[in-house]
Amino acid sequence: MEPVEALRDESHTGANRCWPCTVLNLGLVGALAVFLRGRNRPRSSLLVATVGVTAVYLRGYLVPYTPRFAPRLVAASPVPDEWFHGEPPDRDTSREDTTRRENESLADDVEIDGETVFRELSAAGVIEVEGEQLFLTTAVDAAWHERMDELASDSLDALAAALEESLPSVDDAEPYVDDTEWVALGSDHKQLLPRPVVVAELAAYETLGERLDDDRVRVAGAEAFRIFLDRCPVCDAELVESSSVSCCGGHLGPRQDPDETLVCPTCEQRLYTFEVNDT
Ligand SMILES: [Zn+2]
Repeated sequence: MEPVEALRDESHTGANRCWPCTVLNLGLVGALAVFLRGRNRPRSSLLVATVGVTAVYLRGYLVPYTPRFAPRLVAASPVPDEWFHGEPPDRDTSREDTTRRENESLADDVEIDGETVFRELSAAGVIEVEGEQLFLTTAVDAAWHERMDELASDSLDALAAALEESLPSVDDAEPYVDDTEWVALGSDHKQLLPRPVVVAELAAYETLGERLDDDRVRVAGAEAFRIFLDRCPVCDAELVESSSVSCCGGHLGPRQDPDETLVCPTCEQRLYTFEVNDT
């Protein structure tokens, strides 16, 4: 393998290239090159320009962590989002294996309205409202975190097995690893659930078991628990807000506002999506 090719990072180039990251980085490279020229250092200027452009070409970006902040800058900038995303790409086309799709939750196929879930959770003493804020009751919160801590050290195999065992709706689960870790669900194993989501929802589902009878409310309620996370249940990193207008999340199309997301920067996985626009 050529040394230059070894630098190539396919997760941020080719079809996966994030244009906000690329444009921002090329802009920074250009600004630095111009600055050095202005200081009468043409050789340094040329070097910066050459190395910088090559790095952006091969790796998608130059400045570390660009995929974490560029999308937010773009979202905040007055430049129309369409400049970066002309066609609404399928939100899963960034996956290497395009036949697989990311599931938001174990509750993706559960049909139950949010109001019923809210009412049942309140009646069972799982959540309480204080002013405008919603909280998990102390006992539930403690039980949930304790169970998440136990599951966090489980292998992916063990997690998949635990899902099959605990949830009647899950017949078949198996580990799946690409650049991050998932549990693959469904008869064809095409639905991927991020590992931190599996830990959070399985722990919540089990915690709710003692308090709720209706399995649909348990599964849907377990999904709702994730909104109360502030740290990653697997690696304990603090979750950061991001935006789905990026290579890190997927984009729904020019006419839609990007969803706000909570992501684990270490696991590089999405823990919650606040849907801004559902149409
Ligand atoms: Zn994590």
